[in-house]
Amino acid sequence: MGYQSVSNELAPLTENEAIGFLRQESGFSTKAIHAGYRPEQLLCRSIVAPIYMSASSCSQSNGVNDDLNKSENPTKMILEQTLAALDNAKYALVLPSGTAAQSCIIASLKADDGIICGHNIYTGTIELFRETAVDIGLKCIFVDMTKPEELRKALRSQKSTKVVWVETPSNPMMLISDIKTISDIVHCESNALVIVDNTPSSCYFQRPLDFGADVVSYSITKFVNGHNDVIMGSISTNNREFYEKIRFTQEITGITCSPFDCALVIRSLKTLSLRMERHSLNALLIARYLEQHPRVEKVLHPGLTSHPQHKIAISQSCGHGGSLCFYIKDGTLEQTKKFLKLLKVFTWADSLGGCESLAQAPLLWFVVPTSFSDEEVHELGLVENLIRLSCGLEDVAILIEDLNQALNAL
Ligand SMILES: *Cc1c(COP(=O)(O)O)cnc(C)c1O
Repeated sequence: MGYQSVSNELAPLTENEAIGFLRQESGFSTKAIHAGYRPEQLLCRSIVAPIYMSASSCSQSNGVNDDLNKSENPTKMILEQTLAALDNAKYALVLPSGTAAQSCIIASLKADDGIICGHNIYTGTIELFRETAVDIGLKCIFVDMTKPEELRKALRSQKSTKVVWVETPSNPMMLISDIKTISDIVHCESNALVIVDNTPSSCYFQRPLDFGADVVSYSITKFVNGHNDVIMGSISTNNREFYEKIRFTQEITGITCSPFDCALVIRSLKTLSLRMERHSLNALLIARYLEQHPRVEKVLHPGLTSHPQHKIAISQSCGHGGSLCFYIKDGTLEQTKKFLKLLKVFTWADSLGGCESLAQAPLLWFVVPTSFSDEEVHELGLVENLIRLSCGLEDVAILIEDLNQALNAL
């Protein structure tokens, strides 16, 4: 089957599937390009924000304490202003990785403070919370965030909770949590902050602050930068006290970002809306294609009407990023590896969100030493025939043909 014949077979999106594309908030792309920087700000009036490769700045003549400290490089500040605007937030901070953003949040807590975290999310986050956090005396409970009543019970049992950590859609299982319902419960039961890891959707498709969350956290490494060439994280919030706390933690712990990386992300943001639409469309078309393939048992993608939380997904986001999962029918681990090797356009690799399409078996994450037991991995649903795809920006017909030839050769 040639590329052309595959693309001819793709049915157009139904109105329900395309809902995000019809509902896109106007103004986002303009903010992504202009919010952090105006050429008139500078004498040279350069169209693009300059990279200030400078580790410090001079004090004003009378020595008042208004010089920039080391985490306040001008290129970094331009990026932060843009990121804040894109989340409809007052403040944003960038950090050297998504994990560093989470570490700063942990470092802002104190012994006996509590965290309640989704039970089936990015395994790096689970591991960070339960290993590091618990080591320093934080209390951590994991609950099924798709069942808000479990969260309510957990809040009543752990009164010291300061952070409720939500990831929706979750990576890799694509579980959807209802941001508004969760925020309402948390704010009614406690004074904890709702923090949403918005990495899989990016601020283009989902803006959790608009649904009552207090903080949004990102691995910029993924869709926001989107070129597989920068590792960075960020937080956005309207909560001044929280922002000041994290900024202070950033300053005293010295975890800041290079101006060069900030400039790469400023550049990437200018195409975020275009990239996300293409990621989302490619992933949805691939999900629908795989759903009817005889070698595929099941597809996990929140844009499919077969997804159990599809209605919640489309009520809080207007698109679904580029990730999806599927199960090879009756697949063994050997077949899963064979499938990954047979791919020619998709690269067998970890990570997600870049221009290059990637494929991985989440079970193989655990070939490196982790704190997860085999039983826990199984409970997360990371079984041997599960494949996670990050659909990139290549031609969708070529991506589908690639998956098709690999599945048919099993
Ligand atoms: C990758 C990822 C992270 C960690 O981000 P890094 O930038 O790799 O440290 C956190 N959350 C989610 C959902 C991720 O996918």
